[in-house]
Amino acid sequence: MALLVLTACGGAMVINPEKNAVDFTIEGGEEKVDVKADGTWNVKECPEWVTAEIQDSILVIKTARNETGAVREGDIVLAGKGQVQAAIKVTQAAKCTRINPETDKVEFEKEGGTQTVKIDTDGSPQVEAPEGFTATYAGGVLTINAPSNEGGGKSGEIKLTSDDQSATIAVTQKGNICPKCNGTGKVKCSKCHGRGKVSYGGDAEWGCTKCGGRGYYGEGMEYGDYIVKGSGKMKCPQCGGSGH
Ligand SMILES: [Zn+2]
Ligand SMILES: [Zn+2]
Repeated sequence: MALLVLTACGGAMVINPEKNAVDFTIEGGEEKVDVKADGTWNVKECPEWVTAEIQDSILVIKTARNETGAVREGDIVLAGKGQVQAAIKVTQAAKCTRINPETDKVEFEKEGGTQTVKIDTDGSPQVEAPEGFTATYAGGVLTINAPSNEGGGKSGEIKLTSDDQSATIAVTQKGNICPKCNGTGKVKCSKCHGRGKVSYGGDAEWGCTKCGGRGYYGEGMEYGDYIVKGSGKMKCPQCGGSGH
């Protein structure tokens, strides 16, 4: 019985928070710190812009949005028996100073799906996603969704902005590919068979008008002056040039 009373009423001789520093963004929020101690402890000091609440062995630290325009910091001091103390430094950003995605490129298969990208930031980024994708940010993670893609390949940029910081992530999704042009939208010109010029025997040649060429070359003429070769390629007749 005596031991029980001692444990219940005795101040801690050892107070050991799992971390000694907690950072908040400008938006503030809540952080929980597990405190290991061999007896009771309490919050002796706390900055006025911080609330610290004890829930069993957990210290719940809360801050509101930092409207001061400056970074603020202070210590929460936990006290046990006598002079036994432990401090947790609390810092709150004045504005976002960094947005660092762990990757700047995300690729989806044709089937689509969900992918996440860790974002190292001290802000609360606003997210803009290109058409055909959705993206949301919460708690240091960007979640990107792409539905199944029945059209051609898609690509765009996701933009993250917070205060004067920004970052972009390139996002692409594979799509259906036209088998005739292999997705390029172009096939060999049917008139010149890719040569860009046509000839009808002898030295006489014409720039292929079907694929953008022009001009005529014949006997006694300087070749380069009169003939402009075509590209040798034309719009894919199967997909109309879309590639899918
Ligand atoms: Zn041609
Ligand atoms: Zn095609």
